[in-house]
Amino acid sequence: MSNFNHELNERLDASRAQGLHRELRRVDSAQGTRIQMGGRMFLNFSSNDYLGLANHPLLKEAAVRAVKKFGAGSGASRLICGSLAPHHELEEALASFKKTGAALAFSSGYATAIGTICALLGKDDIIVLDKLVHASVVDAARLCGAKLRVFAHNDLNDLEDILKWANRVQCPKSKVQSRGRLMIVTESIFSMDGDAAPLCEIATLKEKYGAWLMVDEAHATGLYGKNRRGLAEELGVSDRIEIQMGTLGKALGASGGFICGSRTLIDFLVNHARSFIFSTAPVPAAAAAATAAIQMVQSIEGEKRREMLWSRVREFQSQIGNTASRVRSRKSMIPSAIVPIMVGDEKKAVEVAAALRERGIFVPAIRYPTVARGKARLRVTLTTTHMTEEIHLLVATLKEIVNRKS
Ligand SMILES: *Cc1c(COP(=O)(O)O)cnc(C)c1O
Repeated sequence: MSNFNHELNERLDASRAQGLHRELRRVDSAQGTRIQMGGRMFLNFSSNDYLGLANHPLLKEAAVRAVKKFGAGSGASRLICGSLAPHHELEEALASFKKTGAALAFSSGYATAIGTICALLGKDDIIVLDKLVHASVVDAARLCGAKLRVFAHNDLNDLEDILKWANRVQCPKSKVQSRGRLMIVTESIFSMDGDAAPLCEIATLKEKYGAWLMVDEAHATGLYGKNRRGLAEELGVSDRIEIQMGTLGKALGASGGFICGSRTLIDFLVNHARSFIFSTAPVPAAAAAATAAIQMVQSIEGEKRREMLWSRVREFQSQIGNTASRVRSRKSMIPSAIVPIMVGDEKKAVEVAAALRERGIFVPAIRYPTVARGKARLRVTLTTTHMTEEIHLLVATLKEIVNRKS
């Protein structure tokens, strides 16, 4: 045992030396713009609860009602002990929200990516990922056994070169029957940079080269498009995406992940997605809270909350100016609640985050392996519920700290 712990400690020390050590910070309050840590209140700019729904009375009441009627636990996998009504209600709400034939809920976005990609692809296939896709998609791509190729972030030429190569290796003219499958996976709004993928152009390429397209809308669901279905709706490409993925834990304020697509896709996943089949169903409270969130997002209140979020984002963007070298969002006018303040060096990012905490502001330092080495950053996330004065305070404090450090 002592050798075991000794070895692990050495490995921990190595990551400490590179400024990569991570630790949990206990929060003794609900999620919101103010959170309590270590007996002190902090102004919170770290959460993905973009619309401020995680602690909203409507979601909480829905969760409580579900607990009262269906209990705290869900008993087993949905294929084993029967599939509880709250999960069916959630999937009906998702399919109707996203205007797809059907939907399937998973226990998390991570489990969604793993289950779906591994169900669809195997060793004879090729999977092509944007360089910056989320770890859940990277892990799934590795696990599924398909040949993995990565295209430079949002680089359509690089993507097309890879698709051409894939068509060459997969389409020996003599035996078209045995052609492997080819799938592209990208995010719509990227989780650590806040920029948007060119989904229309990617859809055109996937059609040209006979690929499937999976889009992870984790940071876009509830925020983009006329009906707030996501960036695919905003760009008018939903119908060209075979597999629409999302999470219930970000703008939707609850917990879980989902796939929206054809009835056939969903039937296929129920039969083949191992993270769905071999895992206890999410608790009824989570499903009910997510259903309430989907209804809320589609309502006038949902639209108000989104508009308020964009006005917070504009406020922050205009005040922060060039204080820090922000990653410039693409030429497009697509706004994002994720605003990275680039620092570069891992240890320096940790120092800036600590200096902010000293002044009562919580912004996480995002480092390798979440982002590439040397690309450490503070990841500011804005939410509907931030007040103008809170944004002013963040900007003033950031300017002071960044100026002092440089
Ligand atoms: C957070 C996230 C996930 C994982 O979703 P969870 O529900 O948190 O497991 C997947 N993809 C992206 C892009 C994410 O940001």
